[in-house]
Amino acid sequence: MAELNPFKIAQTQLDEAAKHLGLDKGTHEMLRLPMRELHVTIPVKMDDGTTKVFQGFRVQYNDARGPTKGGIRWHPDETIDTVRALSAWMTWKCSVVDIPYGGSKGGIICNPKELSDGEKERLARGYIRSIGRFIGPEKDIPAPDVYTTPQIMAWMMDEYSKICGYNTPGVITGKPIPIGGSLGRGDATARGGMYTLREAAKIIGIDLSNATVAVQGYGNAGQFAHGLVEELFGSRVVAISDSRGGSYNKNGLNFKECKKIKLDTGKVSNIEGDKITNDELLELDVDILVPAALENVLREDNANKVKADVIVELANGPTTPEADIILHNNNRYVIPDFLANAGGVTVSYFEWVQNETGYYWPLDRVHKELDAHMTAAFHDVHTMREEKGVHTRLAAYLVAVKRVVDVMKLRGWV
Ligand code: NAD
Repeated sequence: MAELNPFKIAQTQLDEAAKHLGLDKGTHEMLRLPMRELHVTIPVKMDDGTTKVFQGFRVQYNDARGPTKGGIRWHPDETIDTVRALSAWMTWKCSVVDIPYGGSKGGIICNPKELSDGEKERLARGYIRSIGRFIGPEKDIPAPDVYTTPQIMAWMMDEYSKICGYNTPGVITGKPIPIGGSLGRGDATARGGMYTLREAAKIIGIDLSNATVAVQGYGNAGQFAHGLVEELFGSRVVAISDSRGGSYNKNGLNFKECKKIKLDTGKVSNIEGDKITNDELLELDVDILVPAALENVLREDNANKVKADVIVELANGPTTPEADIILHNNNRYVIPDFLANAGGVTVSYFEWVQNETGYYWPLDRVHKELDAHMTAAFHDVHTMREEKGVHTRLAAYLVAVKRVVDVMKLRGWV
């Protein structure tokens, strides 16, 4: 179905931005399609002695602003159109936070839960042998994504270094610290989102030290968001949830206790407090809502019931286009996903900078530079929102697409 094809969605979003920016036909066409894509077939010797053949992709969407950047997903339902859409979104994400990268994405159709560690290593190395000539620290820099880990990045970096004949840590980010990973990558996504929240709160006039927060999803993004909103601002997280439901306590849920209960029992609904569903969490009377789990949770049918003043989209795609309009008309301030969750790729960029210079930063420098990037990006988007009178996601698109277009023009491409 056309409307569910993620690449069609990405193109439709671009079309809207192109209209507002008054892009000419050629420039618009150039941005509607990936610049390059590679389809590879990877034979892997399995533990039982047979050979299994896997299919993989790498899509480089646009490299006008610099080498392309984007994760590698391992998923049984991976499709080329998903990878294309994600590579487009990476282009806009890197542009909105103004890091000197274009966008890309990779994927392998596989079920990592059915692979042994040895099979995963051979698949990782086989993929890099297949795409090796296509990537590189100055060309295209992969990173972890769905079901790929720092260990898989380490194998991939090692294989690429073997092809080159020397160490090339800058070919991939998200590596373990001892082989060139950056300090501060773990909580970077949530931390970046919190910096944008701080700026939004200043503009709207919310005192974060007295604010209440609800967090949907309690994985990497959601857990760090809970800890950081307490630590940085002294806000009170009153509700959290995971796939099995959530807990609400108007007096606040202590981060350390919640983390321990989630770790020990696997469920945040075991935390003391009223039991709530994921839908109820979204409609709570809180100041800040942090969707940090799934896509399409804020829709036409529930957007009018959202009471939070600020929505910090750590998850990718939590709000449908119809809900965007409703939230905007109801004066809810949405910090859109590709701005709110760009802290991860920003610290990946810092990792690459450290690899390329061979000089490694202390944690406080990572935090300071991340803050500077996220704060500047937030205000660029906010200014565009005010100037054009559009909702924040469209404003973020306008900032991001315009930057890519400006560079394509300077380079004489269009
Ligand atoms: P994760 O797998 O660590 O955690 C996901 C959480 O969502 C889990 O707690 C899970 O229980 C919960 N969940 C699953 N189904 C749910 C449901 N129906 N209702 C409520 N909760 C549900 O994933 P993550 O890394 O934290 O990523 C979460 C979101 O943030 C995704 O959209 C991801 O694309 C986005 N994101 C993450 C990063 C990052 O660096 N981790 C970067 C950019 C974007």
